[in-house]
Amino acid sequence: MTDYSQLYHQLDALAVLTEQSGEMPAEEILLLKKSGLLTIVLPGHELDFANENTAALLALLKDVGRSNGAIGRIYEGHINTLYLIHLYADPAQRRYWYNEVELNRKLFGVWNTDGATGISFQVTGHQIIINGAKGFCSGSNLVDYALIGGKTDLPSATSNWQMVIVPMQEVEEYRIERNSWRPMGMKASVSHTIDFSGVKLDHNALLGQTGDYLKAPYFLGGAIRFASVQLGMAEAVYNKTMDFLRRLDRLEDHFQKMRIGKMGMAIHSGQLWIDNAGHEFDRCSNQPALYEHLIAYANMTRLTIEATCLDVLQLSAQCVGARGLMAPGDLERWHRDLSYYLRQPAPDATLQNAAGYLIRREEGIEHSFPIQAQNFPVQAQNEQTAYS
Ligand SMILES: Cc1cc2nc3c(=O)[nH]c(=O)nc-3n(C[C@H](O)[C@H](O)[C@H](O)COP(=O)(O)OP(=O)(O)OC[C@H]3O[C@@H](n4cnc5c(N)ncnc54)[C@H](O)[C@@H]3O)c2cc1C
Repeated sequence: MTDYSQLYHQLDALAVLTEQSGEMPAEEILLLKKSGLLTIVLPGHELDFANENTAALLALLKDVGRSNGAIGRIYEGHINTLYLIHLYADPAQRRYWYNEVELNRKLFGVWNTDGATGISFQVTGHQIIINGAKGFCSGSNLVDYALIGGKTDLPSATSNWQMVIVPMQEVEEYRIERNSWRPMGMKASVSHTIDFSGVKLDHNALLGQTGDYLKAPYFLGGAIRFASVQLGMAEAVYNKTMDFLRRLDRLEDHFQKMRIGKMGMAIHSGQLWIDNAGHEFDRCSNQPALYEHLIAYANMTRLTIEATCLDVLQLSAQCVGARGLMAPGDLERWHRDLSYYLRQPAPDATLQNAAGYLIRREEGIEHSFPIQAQNFPVQAQNEQTAYS
């Protein structure tokens, strides 16, 4: 795997400046475009979607999240869009959008969360007319193409939710409600509300069939991507907490050691969940009989990572105290960013669904969570054998 540590270092440093200036993270996006990370999942590249690379992809998302949470969020949207193109675009569309990334370094985003009005598409003989607004549009107009979902008047047997990819050059500045984004954290994700009403596109912008976006297992199974970014952010909180304690020469205190141990164990548990979720995705996503398992596993991964991150935030705050959480210190922003980004849709329903899956299984719990042998390094396997 290519070493992106230089990029991560730069993204980390820029986060401080962007937070202070309140500007768009334009320099961060430029670095991302120059890095080669935009093309990494395209055919022939390191994490080509056609191969089974999900665990490595999740590790990459975790790394980007650890360098800069807002850019992690925007980059996850880019990867998600390319995956939906991989799954649902026709060959000509795929070639066109892939070329846009490969040759012109275009950045994509998925904006599915409706604004106050929701989105509908009027599909006429030769064009699509969009009506309504989207909220939480991460990347705003730094994104070159936005995948938005909405209701269409096209008949469908499943659901009438249709994907459309909007070239952002068709979206004028006045449509972006910059004042709509005043969150507790993740300010640099610039997740504005954008009103698309009246934007007209040709039929090439339609991606897949109505109902494709919400299809199992990809929609709910995709939660493992944002969970990876969140876990990377928790790793950053851990690292910066350790830096703070080191500077104050407080690492040898017994109570600090207790909290450091707890944070380390929590994060490592999260790393194991994310890695296993990646392998489970590759094992199950082509087998309809395993979709229910895959979705339940993704739901459980997402909620476990949320709990892990909340534990790390609490332990970190207790470690560094009020002085460690003072702006413009870096940790203060990381705490706000991660707390805010942990708020993802319908967590209670997600737990209910995971529990429902476990209840429907008639085997014991020991059969519910496969741990894949390839997750363990060879050396560790040998050590295990030696103990037995
Ligand atoms: C930084 C950031 C960037 C984002 N970027 C994007 C993006 O680029 N694209 C995009 O599409 N989205 C984006 N989102 C939106 C995200 O996908 C979620 O839609 C959003 O975070 C939902 O958060 P919520 O806590 O308000 O969810 P909710 O689902 O409203 O959950 C809040 C609480 O209400 C409960 N609840 C939910 N439904 C009900 C109900 N019917 N009755 C009673 N209680 C209920 C939940 O269990 C939870 O306790 C982003 C979000 C964040 C934070």
